[in-house]
Amino acid sequence: MPRTARIALNRPLRRLFDYQIPAGMEPIPGQRVRVPFGHQTLTGLVVETDAPPPEGISLRPIGQLLEPWPVLPEETFRLLSWASRYYQHPLGECLFTALPPALRRGRPAEEKKESWWQAATSPQDLPANAHRQRALLQWLQQQNGPASTQAIINAGFTRAQIRALADKQRILPVTGPENGNAPEPEAVPRLTQAQEQAACQLATPDTGFQVSLLYGVTGSGKTEIYIHYLKTHLPRNRQALVLVPEINLTPQTVARFRRYFGDRIGVWHSALNDAQRLQVWLRVRRGEPVILIGTRSAALLPFTGLGAIVVDEEHDTSYKQGEGFRYSARDLAVYRANLNQCPVILGSATPSLESFHNARRGRYHLIRLEERAGASRPPQLQLLDIRSRPLEGGLSRPALQAIGQTLARGEQVLVFVNRRGYAPVMMCFDCGHMEECPRCDTRLTYHRQGRALRCHHCDFQKAASSECPACHSDNFKPVGQGTERTEETLTRHFPDVPVVRVDRDSTQRKGRIQSILDTVNSGAPCILVGTQMLAKGHDFPKVTLVTVVNADGGLFSVDFRAPEQMLQTLLQVSGRAGRGDRPGKVLIQTCHSDHPLLTALCRGRYLELAEQLLAERENSGLPPFRAMAILWAEADRMEHSLKLLDSVAPLAQGPDLHLWGPLPALIPRRADRYRAQLVFSAGSRQQLNRVLAGICQYLDQTRPPPGSRWMLDVDPQETG
Ligand code: ADP
Ligand code: ZN
Ligand code: ZN
Repeated sequence: MPRTARIALNRPLRRLFDYQIPAGMEPIPGQRVRVPFGHQTLTGLVVETDAPPPEGISLRPIGQLLEPWPVLPEETFRLLSWASRYYQHPLGECLFTALPPALRRGRPAEEKKESWWQAATSPQDLPANAHRQRALLQWLQQQNGPASTQAIINAGFTRAQIRALADKQRILPVTGPENGNAPEPEAVPRLTQAQEQAACQLATPDTGFQVSLLYGVTGSGKTEIYIHYLKTHLPRNRQALVLVPEINLTPQTVARFRRYFGDRIGVWHSALNDAQRLQVWLRVRRGEPVILIGTRSAALLPFTGLGAIVVDEEHDTSYKQGEGFRYSARDLAVYRANLNQCPVILGSATPSLESFHNARRGRYHLIRLEERAGASRPPQLQLLDIRSRPLEGGLSRPALQAIGQTLARGEQVLVFVNRRGYAPVMMCFDCGHMEECPRCDTRLTYHRQGRALRCHHCDFQKAASSECPACHSDNFKPVGQGTERTEETLTRHFPDVPVVRVDRDSTQRKGRIQSILDTVNSGAPCILVGTQMLAKGHDFPKVTLVTVVNADGGLFSVDFRAPEQMLQTLLQVSGRAGRGDRPGKVLIQTCHSDHPLLTALCRGRYLELAEQLLAERENSGLPPFRAMAILWAEADRMEHSLKLLDSVAPLAQGPDLHLWGPLPALIPRRADRYRAQLVFSAGSRQQLNRVLAGICQYLDQTRPPPGSRWMLDVDPQETG
């Protein structure tokens, strides 16, 4: 009797597929196989090898095993199986998300050696019209030693240019530095007294699974603590995972870790190419005692000997995947620590209400570090009421004065604006016409760069005209603030200092962030203008003034998470001030200077505010006191979306289950699709899971209204 294997495929289907195991083949769970599927051959992952054979059907056999070892080790497999149930996401897609792209496509699990290059002639030897090749040669000469193909491409050159130069023997292949020339790692960092006190409260690997919530104010030196902790407690043969938000994975952060751990450091983030991903993934899979610093998806890497996990800035919303398999990397990290019986440190100056709640009810161990490291003092926060004050580029006169004084003292300034572009609205002051996206229920943002009107919800864009398209009046103007407009005002007021804009538009080009950081790190007076990107984790010791152009966005939002996120952003951005030896000041412009959240923020202690917000959440029956999920539907017509959700509402029955909706989303139409939501809130996680599983099963079996789709988001971060 041939045995039957259950195989997961990379398909959005909530089921596995049965195949016959050919004689002589011994597949094990987690192994990659090639299997016939219709007329195709697909890559699959073995889930079970002793499945009961279905009756009366003859199964097709597995084609081949792709390698003799399981690409997903048991621990990772268990993690993903749990996640598939918790997030109600098809197991096949969860498992495949954890593979590097090359392995998903069925490529062999072996690394290609990278080529390294060295200049063999000087740029002048090339014809003058070979600009890029000359530039490449020049760049190569400026490097200390040979550069890898990837490094050359990262610097903005192409493979074709490398090949052209190699063919002419202007550059020569050499053996790369590999791991050879890294300097000897340094011993443990010296901690301050306060850091020492916090560090000795952290659970150590020999006590097994424990979650420490490290509440360390901005500038308290949490990174030093992580390094010290791993240096002291991580056994030499164990692996560690250090999760960081995307933007924090700057070369500086990695360099700080490399100083102490040398080549033991591995790095994982979205800018790696497929070959680099495979290389890092294999290092982890082979069980090398790597200390892996990575962003969200690093939580899914195939570790086999985890000894400790750190989640830095654990409150950061980038840890939640926003589409497809909507996992929270922080929550997976905690689950993983439990599987491995190892400690996990969640660090933040502004802990999420979820984690703080867990600390208050004794599940997590709260450690407080309320002093900044070294000579640095906490910044002083001040509200600046801007009701009926004239504004220029969003800035009031007192704010501009303070900026001028700071620059005159030779210090740096950071200006926080919560929108990119020039202005969020273009409006006619004669007829009231506003430019809207033809595909979404939103207004178009005016971008001066490229003189375009762009939709921030779909990819629509069009040229901006100087007159009103409705009445042809030329009284057609941008309204409101974006980063570009504030940048313009600041450049006009302070023509002698560099004004550097930091937002998604200005940092798109490779290497841009680095050059911005270089400007700031030079220490000369400058002004940084930017969005959230500036709020996160940076350490700019010369910034002594932070100005928040408008703090009011989160005060009256319908999203129940808005106040929490507003506080976190304001505190994080404030935390960029005064990190060096000079005191820092934060000016927060608002039209509601008497709002209790803002006044409390200035007085100060985040945890007290968090207590208040938690009390409100409890009164309103919101997470983390109840478990929440949102079922989204989208279709070509709103009625179809609502109909889909209406059809499942009767299935959601339970003693302590509440439903809100179905309701159109806050922005009902996006890219010509109409979105609606149904919110589930349950008194227990088990109950929520049971109801959601039933609903998913029902939806899988019924034919949805034409052109409609549904998505489930468990523990949603965005609720609009
Ligand atoms: P956080 O992440 O907690 O906001 P950082 O880890 O960025 O803080 O540290 C803030 C600054 O303090 C950095 O410049 C860091 O080098 C410095 N620092 C931290 N700990 C120490 C220490 N023990 N001795 C000297 N400088 C420290
Ligand atoms: Zn008009
Ligand atoms: Zn749009």
